Amino acid sequence: MISADHLAFDKNHIWHPYTSLTTPLPCYPVKSAEGVFLELEDGRKLVDGMSSWWACIHGYNVPQINDALRDQLTRTAHVMFGGITHQPAIDLCRRLTNITPQGLDRVFLCDSGSVSVEVALKMALQYWQSRQERRSRFLTIRHGYHGDTFGAMSVCDPEGGMHSLYSGFLSEQLFAPAPANGFDRQWHEDDITPLHNLLEENRQDVAAVILEPIVQGAGGMRIYSPRYLQRVRELCSHYTVLLIADEIATGFGRTGKLFACEHADISPDIMCLGKALTGGYMTLAATLTTKHVAETICSGRPGVFMHGPTFMGNPLACSAANASIEMLLSSDWQKKVLDIEEQLRSELEPCRDLTSVADVRVLGAIGVIECVEPVNVARMQRKFVDRGVWIRPFGKLVYIMPPYIIKADQLGLLTHTIHSVLQKGI
Ligand SMILES: *Cc1c(COP(=O)(O)O)cnc(C)c1O
Repeated sequence: MISADHLAFDKNHIWHPYTSLTTPLPCYPVKSAEGVFLELEDGRKLVDGMSSWWACIHGYNVPQINDALRDQLTRTAHVMFGGITHQPAIDLCRRLTNITPQGLDRVFLCDSGSVSVEVALKMALQYWQSRQERRSRFLTIRHGYHGDTFGAMSVCDPEGGMHSLYSGFLSEQLFAPAPANGFDRQWHEDDITPLHNLLEENRQDVAAVILEPIVQGAGGMRIYSPRYLQRVRELCSHYTVLLIADEIATGFGRTGKLFACEHADISPDIMCLGKALTGGYMTLAATLTTKHVAETICSGRPGVFMHGPTFMGNPLACSAANASIEMLLSSDWQKKVLDIEEQLRSELEPCRDLTSVADVRVLGAIGVIECVEPVNVARMQRKFVDRGVWIRPFGKLVYIMPPYIIKADQLGLLTHTIHSVLQKGI
């Protein structure tokens, strides 16, 4: 048991994400995690609905990944990547080039999702430098989320990302309205007109368009039409602007395809991966690009790409990623995700009739309830924990993206608990 003294230290001295250090939201001490369950210090077991923010797709304490890490630990935990290479990184990069959309066959390994977005933005800037064009702006869509570092923040939703807090420091980017919600929404060419116009007017300044393909995650949990993504790809090609797909949340099967770009059958010029890359074991991300972009960057001055994290290609993290990807590809993940999708649709749909609910959205292993009003996170979470589930709402959104190994009755507990808590009101 963690002592009261330790918990008091945590409360008074340790920042947790997006919460106050003076009046923090409650924190639940976890003792261990296994399969789909988080075990709290008091012995209660919770069915995990979050995959620790999209990452733990195989659940927790996964024997194959544990073994891969133990095995790698007997060789080397870490070694610099400058002037040195190693098998785990080579295996991982080969795998990534094989499974990602066509043409993405140059890989940059980095530390976290946000850094991989910085790398993508820098690649686009250096690409245009090499072509001797001054292009320094990025075009994106509202309600996006790309991370918390400055470059990444500049392309996050301006309101949700609180750009006003950092004004004067953040680069000012171009924002098109978010695409209309609805994967199956009937296509109207008007849906793309605002982005089309922005691109047309700023074609000489825009280095790249950056967006999350099909599902916008932390910026609003919105799901949009593959046709929109296809049109963005066509427009980027038409105006010779690079397209960056941020697949950090959507990658590795979450939306029902291995990568969300496949819903639209497109290849971006640059793609960011992270989160589920290591099965949620360690922090690791990757930025992939094409031979053309890589060669263009290296043809200009200074002839190299200017980035090189200390922990680039960390062998332990690469081994975890290799084990996780191998497990995923050798499993029946498509059927698993499809089964989760069907169950989410049938069991979350009744929430639509509740007066507190504005919308219900499902794609792949992602289920979203958008409420009419922002929810009281602390109170709602306590109710969830009391009923044996781990779900962390934010703003108006109560959403789940469980590990793919979840069983029907466990998923049923998540969906029925959401319905019953929303029905009773909090
Ligand atoms: C989480 C996320 C990021 C940031 O990744 P970190 O590892 O938290 O830095 C970037 N883009 C998207 C789409 C994400 O979901």
